[in-house]
Amino acid sequence: MRWWGWGVDGHQVSLPEPAQALMRDELGADLSARHEPVTLEEVRLPEPRLPGAARARLEAAVGAEHVLDDRVARVQHAAGRSYADLVRLRAGDASRAPDAVVAPGAADEVRTVLEACSEARVAVVPFGGGTSVVGGVEPVSDGFDGAVALDLRRLDRVVDVDRASLTATLEAGLLGPEAERRLGEEGVTLGHFPQSFEYSTVGGWVATRSAGQASSGYGRIDDLVEGVWLVAPAGEVRNRPVPASAAGPDLRELIVGSEGVLGVICEATLRVRPVPKVRRYEGWSFHSFAEGREAFRVMEQADAAPDVARLSDEEETRMALALASTGGGAAERVVRAYLRMRGHEGGCLAITGFEGEEEDVERRRLRAGSLLRAGGGVRLGRRPGEAWLRSRYAGPYLRDELLDRGLLIETLETAVSWSGLEALYDAVGGALRRSLAEAGTPAIVLCHVSHLYRSGASLYFTFLARQSDAPLEQWRAAKSAASEAIVANGGTITHHHAVGRDHAAWMRAEVGEMGLDLIRAAKERLDPAGIMNPGKLLPG
Ligand SMILES: Cc1cc2nc3c(=O)[nH]c(=O)nc-3n(C[C@H](O)[C@H](O)[C@H](O)COP(=O)(O)OP(=O)(O)OC[C@H]3O[C@@H](n4cnc5c(N)ncnc54)[C@H](O)[C@@H]3O)c2cc1C
Repeated sequence: MRWWGWGVDGHQVSLPEPAQALMRDELGADLSARHEPVTLEEVRLPEPRLPGAARARLEAAVGAEHVLDDRVARVQHAAGRSYADLVRLRAGDASRAPDAVVAPGAADEVRTVLEACSEARVAVVPFGGGTSVVGGVEPVSDGFDGAVALDLRRLDRVVDVDRASLTATLEAGLLGPEAERRLGEEGVTLGHFPQSFEYSTVGGWVATRSAGQASSGYGRIDDLVEGVWLVAPAGEVRNRPVPASAAGPDLRELIVGSEGVLGVICEATLRVRPVPKVRRYEGWSFHSFAEGREAFRVMEQADAAPDVARLSDEEETRMALALASTGGGAAERVVRAYLRMRGHEGGCLAITGFEGEEEDVERRRLRAGSLLRAGGGVRLGRRPGEAWLRSRYAGPYLRDELLDRGLLIETLETAVSWSGLEALYDAVGGALRRSLAEAGTPAIVLCHVSHLYRSGASLYFTFLARQSDAPLEQWRAAKSAASEAIVANGGTITHHHAVGRDHAAWMRAEVGEMGLDLIRAAKERLDPAGIMNPGKLLPG
């Protein structure tokens, strides 16, 4: 991945004119100037300070060729992929870069590396794909004699696929596309497709409790973990993969979502399914976000939810139509004309996606369809659904383009009960708009519902504004205002992005003082020297 953004060099996306017009008019953005990132040579890096003896032990553990401290390796592992990470990197700030990047090839090597780092007091940051958007992979080495990024990408074996039990044991460093390719050869799929799928890893998903876009059908990653193997500085925890157990508290739950602070997830046994024979994606329209939310609630509680269920609010729908308006805007005009005809102009778009056997897909599609229609929805047919499926990984490439044009673009997510959804939606949107207005930059705030549960749903916000002269302060203030609004309205501080550094301050509100003590106690037992991913998950 290019060090300052998403994808590989040369992958450029264009911003359609109607979307540019919207941003010029409503954000006062001057999109003509380009704000290119500095060159790699211009990036400011501190001198590596790994003690010589520690480096020699690491080289002995993994091989000298797998301990890197060149500029490219250190910058590539200096940060994740949040807006703030990209703003810093593009401006040439890699002051938190690790002193070295260490890439073990097996769990035994992970164990030796952790022993060596514990003795040398070197912080260890487990690094999967590095797509964290909450500061999860940013090295924090204050109080340590250095920090290494533990790049897990050489742990890339498919250990076992059990077709009879529909489980697969995968090593942590497997990237999404490669994991799916190899599972596909066995006729199965994990069905876990976060928007970061192309660059994130199995271990990263498990360590962050990630949610794929098809989570309403396939389940979040935490629903899919049957067994997990954690290697920690003080020993190992190996949860045997069993379908269910009454043997006391479930320690899987301690490891899933542990964000590298307890140890390194080397392997996970995950529930898989046969590759679907049919995929049927469709678009729907509702008069309003409130109407759509209610229809989604009824559908979910009738056990009729599709595998993918997404409902955009009015603002996100407006933006989606502007972004879809390539080729002179013909497609956009057709959709708008159709919606006007059905009395849905200014309404909300929804996507439903069903996957599986033909007969089953058809039965489920008809049932969900009748509930959505009864809730006020109008079916828009397959084209919007298939367009969404084709472009499901496109968002991050567009973000690079918007950063080039001097815009702030950031996302955040939460979840709450159905009864609290409206108040939370209003509060977070209001907090973001107010905070950005105080910085002198009007905002566009978009939102969608994309993960449904019997008792509630997630809300995913995207906000855009002109970058101010102090972009990190502008971002921090908006993020903080939204986080306070989430906590005050009963939402979780994160539905799937995890805690990392950015949400750690709100963990007390999330789990309480005793909850924090319990996590700390587990950490002290597994990681007595405290070297594992310092500064993440737990408030300082
Ligand atoms: C554009 C974009 C879109 C995204 N879309 C989604 C989405 O749809 N759904 C979603 O859930 N998230 C999404 N994310 C967030 C991110 O991709 C997920 O958190 C993902 O699970 C991280 O995987 P990774 O391999 O990149 O982990 P990393 O970023 O490398 O690490 C994440 C955290 O886990 C720890 N970690 C990583 N591997 C291990 C391991 N093997 N053992 C122990 N700790 C480990 C790290 O130390 C860090 O704290 C998105 C991010 C971006 C940039």
